[in-house]
Amino acid sequence: MPAGPKCNPPAGRACASPPFGSKIFPLFVILPRQKGGIRVNFLGSLISLASAGMLMLSSSLMTLAPQHDIEGLLFLCNREWTIAESYVPASLREADVPGQVRRMRPEAAAALEEMFAACQEETGVTLMSISGYRSYASQKNIYQRKLDSVRGNVAKAQQYVAPPGTSEHTLGLAMDIGQKKKPHLTEAFAATEGGVWARENCWRFGFILRYDQAWEEITGYSYEPWHFRYVGRELAKEIHDSGLPLELWLPGYRTRRLLALLGVPEAEAVSDPVPSSEPNS
Ligand SMILES: [Zn+2]
Repeated sequence: MPAGPKCNPPAGRACASPPFGSKIFPLFVILPRQKGGIRVNFLGSLISLASAGMLMLSSSLMTLAPQHDIEGLLFLCNREWTIAESYVPASLREADVPGQVRRMRPEAAAALEEMFAACQEETGVTLMSISGYRSYASQKNIYQRKLDSVRGNVAKAQQYVAPPGTSEHTLGLAMDIGQKKKPHLTEAFAATEGGVWARENCWRFGFILRYDQAWEEITGYSYEPWHFRYVGRELAKEIHDSGLPLELWLPGYRTRRLLALLGVPEAEAVSDPVPSSEPNS
């Protein structure tokens, strides 16, 4: 094992912390050695080292957690994790696709253009943008209008419209998609050729279907076969293949990132269990 950097800390103090990952061990070998006070200093050192460790761990977790980075592609937005009223994406542009309300973050707009072109080429179906970026203020107006129309019944209003700050559209990463000359923003979209294709192929372009029918209790949103969220090509396939909503997939992802940061190898895949008894014959 190669020698680490030389360090002569004053009694009771540790060396500067090495980065997390491969060099955790040196943190725990630098302990005070003066006679007469070993026990107290040892405990004090342990406490301060543990505190330093916790501090490093929590700051590392903050960096790892997608919730730390609203401009990142994995920021979770739902009724629990909301967007501040002041938030506006750093950059937005109109996607060059048929339809309306075509603004999205540039990387999402580019991916949407590729997705629509691929659908056209592979199926002959023209997909359309129905609703992309929506500011906090416009979401607030839409919500208020709905609330007024149901005479202030919050539960009823929220059945149809997301309250301001809880819509992925405000992140600039969501697009409601429709098929040309077909009903849109209704469950009927799921049965259209474009709806089927989009659901099966969105991950190829970095999108995921966000509000599936089976996930209503978890996401807090009704089934929306038209609502697609951009998460980037790197992870869209994995999320799609997991069969999990973002709310349930993210914790596992964070754990893996943390283990990687700590230098812990990923657990080996569990092999198929051996049948405990012979099948009946
Ligand atoms: Zn939507």
